[in-house]
Amino acid sequence: MESFNEFNISKQLQYAITDLGFEKPTPIQAQSFSVIMSGTDMVGIAQTGTGKTFAYMLPILQDLKFSKETNPRVLVLVPTRELVLQVVEEIEKFGKYSSIRVIGVFGGTNINRQKEAVAEGADIIVATPGRLYDLVVSRALQLKAVKKVVIDEVDVMLDLGFRFQLTNILELLPNKRQNIMFSATMTDDVNVFIHDFFIAPTTVSVAVSGTPLENISQFAYAVPNFYTKANLLKYLLQHESDFKKVLVFVPNKKSADLLFDILDEFFGSEVAVIHSNKTQNYRIRSIENFNAEKTRILVTTDVMARGLDLDRISHVINFDVPNFPENYMHRIGRTGRAEQEGTAILLYTEKEQDAKATIESLMNLRIAELELPKEVEISKQLTYEEQPQVLEINNPNNTEEVGPAFHEKKEKNKKENQGGSYKRIIKQKYKKPKTRGDKNYNRRKKGR
Ligand code: AMP
Repeated sequence: MESFNEFNISKQLQYAITDLGFEKPTPIQAQSFSVIMSGTDMVGIAQTGTGKTFAYMLPILQDLKFSKETNPRVLVLVPTRELVLQVVEEIEKFGKYSSIRVIGVFGGTNINRQKEAVAEGADIIVATPGRLYDLVVSRALQLKAVKKVVIDEVDVMLDLGFRFQLTNILELLPNKRQNIMFSATMTDDVNVFIHDFFIAPTTVSVAVSGTPLENISQFAYAVPNFYTKANLLKYLLQHESDFKKVLVFVPNKKSADLLFDILDEFFGSEVAVIHSNKTQNYRIRSIENFNAEKTRILVTTDVMARGLDLDRISHVINFDVPNFPENYMHRIGRTGRAEQEGTAILLYTEKEQDAKATIESLMNLRIAELELPKEVEISKQLTYEEQPQVLEINNPNNTEEVGPAFHEKKEKNKKENQGGSYKRIIKQKYKKPKTRGDKNYNRRKKGR
């Protein structure tokens, strides 16, 4: 899209865009505008820096007519107070020529002042979930006029454990509303969340900021299990001199800690780890050291890596194969930036072959296979998840499977993760929903 004129937006917004010096919409803005204007639910997969804030604010502001209504008509939920301030600032820039009333609320500060502020009335409230809920429960704020809700950085929110607060808030909102969410990565949790609250959303996805695949050499090793993957990684990091700045992606906190312990024994201060159970200070220090090239190896989960501005990564190691191929693209996009060459290495087990094939078909490219070096010891040790299932046959009361096989566990997780499982079973049985959440679904549909 060559210019903002194609959006057919108001004069006020055009003036604001001219003031900001934006020449043309970013890809996420170009793709989101018509979807949000059409009123359907939308899921945007985009990182910070892609222009996602304006991607949702532009159509929302275009649609927001002047009103004397005290209660907010637009709700934007974000995970941190820093983001509240940032988003409010962006909205103020955009709304400069229209009399938009926007208020930011977040925890950790005096609630009374925020109560006074919202009592004066606002068109848009930008909030962290906890504080917003407190304001609603204390009757300082009413959500009955909300027509559009934006949930930004959903992956981070869920990773920080905000699911409960988000659910509470969504249940208080009017049924007839538009849901818009943005997430840098797709995760099982995000997927469940979408299924529970969104109605046939349109997905809009942009890759990590313009890293061309040609700059990245991609290789894959077939490896039997976690501990052999660790042996291979240790081998590569010890023997290959060009592994100068290495970002290692793992699927979750547990694997992050496990792998970090193994690497720590060998590489000591050369290696650091970040995930959401680490303190903010620890994470900041790890990232600073990595950026300053004091540590050579950084182990991270997908969610933690998002938003990090990391430069000159020589190698991205995918210790697992992401279930969502977009995540693979985001991961490898961390290397090969700014005209530099980068290398991405994928370690996959037999169970991960299908996920690898999905990624390859998305890229329309086959990842070059490398032989496992002879020196790398094949470990027989299995992680808990990899262990074969054992039935406690002597215990008549316990038919639970113990230590499920890798594959079994994954299937089991998938089932759990579809979310609202009770609702789904009831729906299948009666062909129509019977619970509150699904009743909303019908009401909202009628309202459209
Ligand atoms: P965000 O991804 O929303 O955090 O935005 C990243 C930065 O891009 C912000 O500083 C915006 O001011 C800027 N930005 C947003 N849209 C555009 C655009 N169309 N052209 C140039 N810069 C933009």
